[in-house]
Amino acid sequence: MHDWEWSYHDYRPEQERLREALCTVGNGYFASRGAAPESVADAHHYPGTYLAGGYDRAKTEIQGRVVENEDLVNLPNWLPLRLRFADGDWLDLDQVELLDYRQTLDLRNAVLERLIHFREPGGRETQLRQRRLVHMEHQHLAGLETELTPCNWSGSVEVLSALDGRVTNAGVERYHGLEGDHLECLETQAVDADGLYLKARTRQSRLEIAMSARTRAYRGEQPIDLDARVETEADQIKQRFQLHLDAGQTVSIEKLIALYTSRDAAISECGLEARSTLASLPRFAALQQSNALIWQQLWRRFDLELGLRDDDDGRTAAILRLHLFHLLVTASPRVMDLDAGVPARGLHGEAYRGHIFWDELFIFPTLNLRLPEITRSLLMYRYRRLGAARQAAREAGLRGAMYPWQSGSNGREESQTLHLNPRSGHWTPDESRLQRHVSSAIAYNLWQYYETSGDQEFLSFYGAEMLLEIARFWASIATYNQALERYEIHGVIGPDEFHTGYPDREEPGLSNHAYTNVMACWVLCRALELTEHLPSERWDELREQLGIQRDELEQWDRISRKLRLCFHDQDVISQFEGFEQLKELDWQGYRERYGDIQRLDRILEAEGDSPNRYQATKQADVLMLFYLFSTEELERLLTRLGYHFHPEMIPRNVDYYGSRTSHGSTLSRVVDAWVLARRDRQRSWSLFTEALESDVADIQGGTTSEGIHLGAMAGTVDLIQRCYAGIEVRDQRLWLNPALPEELKRLRIRLRFRGQTLELDVSHERVQLRAISPETETIRLWVGSEAYALRAGETHEFERKDKPAFVEAP
Ligand code: BGC
Repeated sequence: MHDWEWSYHDYRPEQERLREALCTVGNGYFASRGAAPESVADAHHYPGTYLAGGYDRAKTEIQGRVVENEDLVNLPNWLPLRLRFADGDWLDLDQVELLDYRQTLDLRNAVLERLIHFREPGGRETQLRQRRLVHMEHQHLAGLETELTPCNWSGSVEVLSALDGRVTNAGVERYHGLEGDHLECLETQAVDADGLYLKARTRQSRLEIAMSARTRAYRGEQPIDLDARVETEADQIKQRFQLHLDAGQTVSIEKLIALYTSRDAAISECGLEARSTLASLPRFAALQQSNALIWQQLWRRFDLELGLRDDDDGRTAAILRLHLFHLLVTASPRVMDLDAGVPARGLHGEAYRGHIFWDELFIFPTLNLRLPEITRSLLMYRYRRLGAARQAAREAGLRGAMYPWQSGSNGREESQTLHLNPRSGHWTPDESRLQRHVSSAIAYNLWQYYETSGDQEFLSFYGAEMLLEIARFWASIATYNQALERYEIHGVIGPDEFHTGYPDREEPGLSNHAYTNVMACWVLCRALELTEHLPSERWDELREQLGIQRDELEQWDRISRKLRLCFHDQDVISQFEGFEQLKELDWQGYRERYGDIQRLDRILEAEGDSPNRYQATKQADVLMLFYLFSTEELERLLTRLGYHFHPEMIPRNVDYYGSRTSHGSTLSRVVDAWVLARRDRQRSWSLFTEALESDVADIQGGTTSEGIHLGAMAGTVDLIQRCYAGIEVRDQRLWLNPALPEELKRLRIRLRFRGQTLELDVSHERVQLRAISPETETIRLWVGSEAYALRAGETHEFERKDKPAFVEAP
């Protein structure tokens, strides 16, 4: 397999929606699914274009209750390009004989290509080559090039190119009962001789979207004179023309589009910008070239060079590159200028309505070590919604900032209140909003960003305020249990969404959830430590502004030493108080009966039962602690909380929870692969390869077609870099302690660490570190207790049997 390509060699209608998601092209500002240009939304196809931050709300009545949902809106479809040869029917792949079919996502150059050789019922054979891109630098531009070569005939082709505003949000079957009509068309208009223009507006958020398209045809370099006819309807605009084709001669048709919205910076009016851009559009080839250049630059920063075992066929590297590609399609340098977060399912479909969850925790590390400026911008999305998080805390009778589990336009809680179980057809209460741990993830992310980038200004003016307010939230939600002399947190749920409450209680929520409590302790510690990281002047300003008095800090300190954790079977950290009293599930029985039991919650609900009754988890929960913290850090935290910690606890917990999880979230295998990396390398690698397959093989059976799982995609890259290469950023140092699995012989990556660019080359025998940027100041590299100076251009190499090393930027 070519490891810079993701390709398919056959046409399978039932796979199209999955491939559309996996072949999405985009630039962080907008993205379009890889739907065939001649297709319309139906059982097998779902054209979709999404804008970062392009949300709209709509209300639906369900079971007598009005629910309001906010969706990432499916924008007007810019792709339509239909072809009709001579007196035949409009080209439809389902109606012709396919002699050859290849679809390739060229990852290096970010071009999606389709090569089709087909025979129509009357015997005419034609070759079609189609390429498309969404431009990474000129963020408003996209293009579709179609080359037609008749093989055994000459005659005419009718071309129909359109901008289609008749789209709705209908990409996820479970949401069909919910209102999905978000757009109203405002205007359609012809522009000059060959331009189309359409303007639409979202119904509630009043976001205006303007699109223009120019379709031209060429014989080689020669433009063909077209006698185009424009058909204007209220909600779509079409252009038709005829071309003459000669056997063996190629004609190319180029459709280039511009997309602007009323939220764009540096515009007069979005329609005007879209229309006027048409006049200055170059040829497709020029766009392709300039796009490839920007992607080359991105790959220089983002690529991983893997030395895999000789029997490896390139699939691992290709999937990892595909994952990096989709990370950049969603969160590229273009987001630096936007007020947008990173949706859990990318800009690739409508699942989870484009909302932003804690998945950032799995996504940011890859960005932090390469282009931390992107993380900064995504953290600013959170900072701008600090007011909404404060308001949410106040409304819950608490203090500080309580971030929503699902976030969209303005930081309001966007989680559904009712959830459809497609297996039973029941609408059941959705309590996932009680995942208060999302605020800790934000605190953790901003700290990791600060540690990795050294961005003091961000911490001073944005990060610290979020951190302090999240710490305040935890201090206010914690209650003191006099009898136990411990602080407790009640009424929350953890990452494991199967447990939303106690089986015998009406009220949802759990008590003393271990991951939540340890994270709260961590947040409080970091907040207390802020004085060491901020200039004293800024610290004083913040204290004044937020009204933080000495006694509040003392209270945080007390809570951070006394939060309660529960244990059972000696060393097993109880996921929450009482977890061990729940029934054991008959895993084997359920597997035999149902086969795939990843979504055990749906199975149990359909049986009239509930996962709340069992020691069965959807995803890694307690194990998140071993994922996020090194042994030393976790020991520090548990010791501070007054609990005994010893490293043998790790395998006990990994085994205990590992055998009680259904991996109903794609994030789960990433965590399990991580926590096993140093104990059971083989099992870790096999979980890593399963996690790699999450989307490309659609292991959840149908979810990827509704949008990729960006947390798992970025998480697998992060497994390679931080886990197997053993890169940890802690105490403002970069720690190196590689643990390569057998299958991975060598790994080369380029890293940014506190303004320095480093190249790391790791094998089973040695580690090489090179400071590559010429302006790099001398870096101190410590190997065991010995310090070495690493100057620009210099390489330091040390044997793997050495002690772990760490790097200090000046
Ligand atoms: C997982 C969550 C995740 C969400 C969005 C859910 O299925 O349980 O942990 O945040 O998907 O990816």
